[in-house]
Amino acid sequence: MADVDTRNGDTSCGFIALIGAPNAGKSTLLNALVGAKVSIISHKVQTTRTLIRGIAVEGHSQLIFVDTPGIFSPRRRLDRAMVTTAWSGAHEADLVGVLIDSRKGLDEEAQGILGKLGDMRSPRLLILNKIDLVAKEALLGLSKAANAGAQFEATFMVSALTGDGVPDLKAWLAQHLPAGPWLYPRDQMSDAPVRQLAAEITREKLFERLHQELPYHSTVETEVWKELRAGDIRIEQTIYVERESQRKIVLGKGGQTIKAIGEAARKEIAEIVEARVHLFLFVKVREGWGEDPERYRAMGLEFPKE
Ligand code: GDP
Ligand code: MG
Repeated sequence: MADVDTRNGDTSCGFIALIGAPNAGKSTLLNALVGAKVSIISHKVQTTRTLIRGIAVEGHSQLIFVDTPGIFSPRRRLDRAMVTTAWSGAHEADLVGVLIDSRKGLDEEAQGILGKLGDMRSPRLLILNKIDLVAKEALLGLSKAANAGAQFEATFMVSALTGDGVPDLKAWLAQHLPAGPWLYPRDQMSDAPVRQLAAEITREKLFERLHQELPYHSTVETEVWKELRAGDIRIEQTIYVERESQRKIVLGKGGQTIKAIGEAARKEIAEIVEARVHLFLFVKVREGWGEDPERYRAMGLEFPKE
């Protein structure tokens, strides 16, 4: 492939925000578009807390994706922070992809989001996701109904999971970004600091193993990242929970749960950093961390005033 000269006038580059209800498939689609695991995925809702960028190159265009937390009706302060962050990501983008879970259709959540699009200046496109789960006729009806209520530049039907329709979507996006120089080197896939990615991976493992409410009351921070002489990396992370009872659940009987979480996270982080990783996990109780502005900054979220 001929290399693109990113300094001459024929390149384009821009930000694309993916918004939608929790579980619509935003993170899965981001990973499919970028072709790498840059955003954690979970079948549970609200696993994405911050704006993670994935970067892809298509022809002469550089596509910078902003994955957002889901948009939903916020109750707790942390929830409000996530929703605020999601909308601000969309307002700053050059293009906004509005994802709808085709199987769920235009439920209350989806309609709530469509209803708010009018305030937004960025051009938007409708992305009907999970088409592997629904019949064609239903899709056409859904597309019509969604387009009746909001103005979209285009409609795409995709399966983020199988990749169906994703190349067409990517090609369209590349053609509709503003002309300009690239902002990142060709081979960069994400600008999320690797420490943050590592914390997200551990949090994903927590989600997979703990089925209660608990993961929503926990957060993970990478506190130490040290390259050892042999090229190995020593990583220390702290899992913050709100109560002693939650700490016990994360540790598990004889420390079994935390051990399994650490083992799974270590493997995956090692793959990403391409080095041997020594991962040490600590579990700390920090009462009311959900009300602590410092924890929000650590997650890259805005701290809502009330
Ligand atoms: P987000 O909350 O919007 O970021 O959603 P995720 O990307 O975390 O996906 C939520 C769930 O939907 C996960 O279990 C995904 O595997 C699943 N999912 C996402 N896209 C598709 C799709 O196109 N088809 C199917 N069948 N499942 C999908
Ligand atoms: Mg997500």
